[in-house]
Amino acid sequence: MALSHRRTDGFWLIALIAICFRFGPALAQPQAEAAQTIIIRAGKLFDPAAGRVLNHPVVVIRGNKIESVSYGTTVPVSGAKLIDLGEATLLPGFIDVHTHLTMNAGGGGYESLGISTPRAALIGAKNARLTLLAGFTTVRNVGAQGYADVALRDAINDGDVIGPRLQVSGPALGITGGHCDDNLLPFEFHHSAEGVADGPEAIMHRVREVIKYGGDVVKFCASGGVFSKGDNPLLEQYSPEEMRVLIAEAHRLGRKVATHAHSTISIKDAVRAGVDSIEHGIFLDQEGIELMKEHHTFLVPTSYPLFWFEEHESQMNLPPWVIEKAAIIIPAAKKNMADAFRNRVRVALGTDAGVYPHGLNGGEFWSMVTLGLTPVQAVQAGTTNAAELMGWSDRIGAIRPGLLADIVAVKGDPLADIRLLQHVQFVMKDGVVYKNEFPAEPSGARVPAGD
Ligand SMILES: [Zn+2]
Repeated sequence: MALSHRRTDGFWLIALIAICFRFGPALAQPQAEAAQTIIIRAGKLFDPAAGRVLNHPVVVIRGNKIESVSYGTTVPVSGAKLIDLGEATLLPGFIDVHTHLTMNAGGGGYESLGISTPRAALIGAKNARLTLLAGFTTVRNVGAQGYADVALRDAINDGDVIGPRLQVSGPALGITGGHCDDNLLPFEFHHSAEGVADGPEAIMHRVREVIKYGGDVVKFCASGGVFSKGDNPLLEQYSPEEMRVLIAEAHRLGRKVATHAHSTISIKDAVRAGVDSIEHGIFLDQEGIELMKEHHTFLVPTSYPLFWFEEHESQMNLPPWVIEKAAIIIPAAKKNMADAFRNRVRVALGTDAGVYPHGLNGGEFWSMVTLGLTPVQAVQAGTTNAAELMGWSDRIGAIRPGLLADIVAVKGDPLADIRLLQHVQFVMKDGVVYKNEFPAEPSGARVPAGD
């Protein structure tokens, strides 16, 4: 009796699968046909993979993907919606691999203790919008308490709020009392940040927990930092053995690992342990540069805050320990980033937005050029290289058939004036236009049939 009952269940399951296979594609077809076709016409297109500018691009977008890219005046599809951007330059949507969307600028002091997780998620919704409208269509968020960044990612994917496509880390792992702990309260509060894990066993558990609750990437703190109270950016925090365990476990479970590393020794130990990216890398030396090249490790220089701090420090109401540490960090970082760029370490763009106001992310292109990257290399860092670091080269980072339709446009030639990338005038993500400041085409302009 029980056996035949089970067989009946099995029969219906097989029948259901058969129905899905039989009718699945047939049902999907009308939807695919209904996907809107858009044609973007512009003056120039910068192709970061080839490192060159091409004239008179015509990009055909169907649904959320790029269908074709051609050059000239012929528009290949009739009946499509036409977006004519005149003489503008098209670029792939920008990618920022180091942001703190759920934090507002200047949030590192005691006021941060009053921010709840739901409030942090709402702060994230505001900042995600600003970031998208600045031309950043994909962003990696590295470090958020309470998994507020997981909620933000899912809300964006569900269309509840607008923002870039996200990879998120949840809470960053770190040692007790380290940069990724929260050291503001005295002992009697017994307060630790959620990512704290000491020793191999606790670290393995924490990596698994981050993945369980929705982390796409694992972030940890290898050294001290600027905003944390009572630690030293010149010292290592995790031991080499702890780093090896952390990185091996994350990789085993299919996650890349990003590490905050300032001190020379922490950079080298993290690279030797197989980390995918060194974030900041302030005290990187020649041996560290060679090691990074040997291991194909990305450097995420987060250089714009160095310049932003110098200009705005007095208005920022920073805790005294931050001012003290920044005075040591800033000159060292500028020199060592310039050395790394000259030695052609692989660079992915990351801004540390959240340390300064969100939406200014495009400043990172300018600061990397100021420290020695060519404009072409800077754009590559924020498109093709960042896509590679995120493991998403097959989705984003270029304007190419088959990739997601993430396209931005600026007036003029950004390779001649890199600051133009701080004022993006057109933003499309997933085939949807979120910003278009170019003069409107006649309403409802369409490519005439037979054109
Ligand atoms: Zn950061």
